[in-house]
Amino acid sequence: MSQNQQTRLILRAYQLLEEVTPLTTDCGELCGHRCCHGEDHDGMWLLPGEEQFFLGQPGFSVQPCQDNAGYPLVVCDGHCDRRLRPFACRIFPLFPMVRLSPLGGIMVQAQMDPRAQLSCPLREREQLRMLFRRRVQRAGEILVSDPQLRAYLLETTEFLEEVAALREKMLGQ
Ligand code: SF4
Ligand code: SF4
Repeated sequence: MSQNQQTRLILRAYQLLEEVTPLTTDCGELCGHRCCHGEDHDGMWLLPGEEQFFLGQPGFSVQPCQDNAGYPLVVCDGHCDRRLRPFACRIFPLFPMVRLSPLGGIMVQAQMDPRAQLSCPLREREQLRMLFRRRVQRAGEILVSDPQLRAYLLETTEFLEEVAALREKMLGQ
C-alpha cells in the first residue's frame, strides 16, 4: 500500500474521532484534563506514518521513542486545535486491540488501554459512550487494511497485554 493510501486511512480514522468523545460531557472535568498535562518528556505514541502531520507544527515536537515498536512519539505543549490532535488522544482511554484469530483472520476490539489505569478515572469500558466505543473499533478496522499499520497494532496490542499482565501480577487488579 502506498504512503498516500496509508495517509488516507489515518485521516479517515481521525475524521471518525473528530467530534466523538468518551462521554457526552467533557470528561476532562473529572480529572483536571490529566490527558493534556503530562511532563515535558510525556508524549503520545504515533502510528506509522503519522509523524508527517506534526513535523514542524507549532506546539508539537516529534521525538524518538524507545518503545512504540520503534516509531516516534509526539509531545505537545498542553493546548491544541482539536482537529490536529494525534490518534492516541482521540482514542484514549480505549485502544483498538488487534489480534490474529485461530483461523488466521484479524480481530479488532476496542478495549480499555491498561495505561489508562494509572491516570484516567474512566476505568470501565461500559462507562464510555457507545458511539465512542464503536468509532474506536471502526477506526481500528480501517487502519488494519494497511500492512504496516496492522503490524504496528498487532505489536502494540501484545505490548499492552504484557502491561496488563504485569500490573495484575504486581497489584492484583
Ligand atoms: S484522563 Fe480520562 S477522564 Fe481525564 S481527560 Fe483523559 S480520557 Fe478524559
Ligand atoms: S495534543 Fe491536544 S488533546 Fe492531545 S494531549 Fe496535547 S493538548 Fe491534549
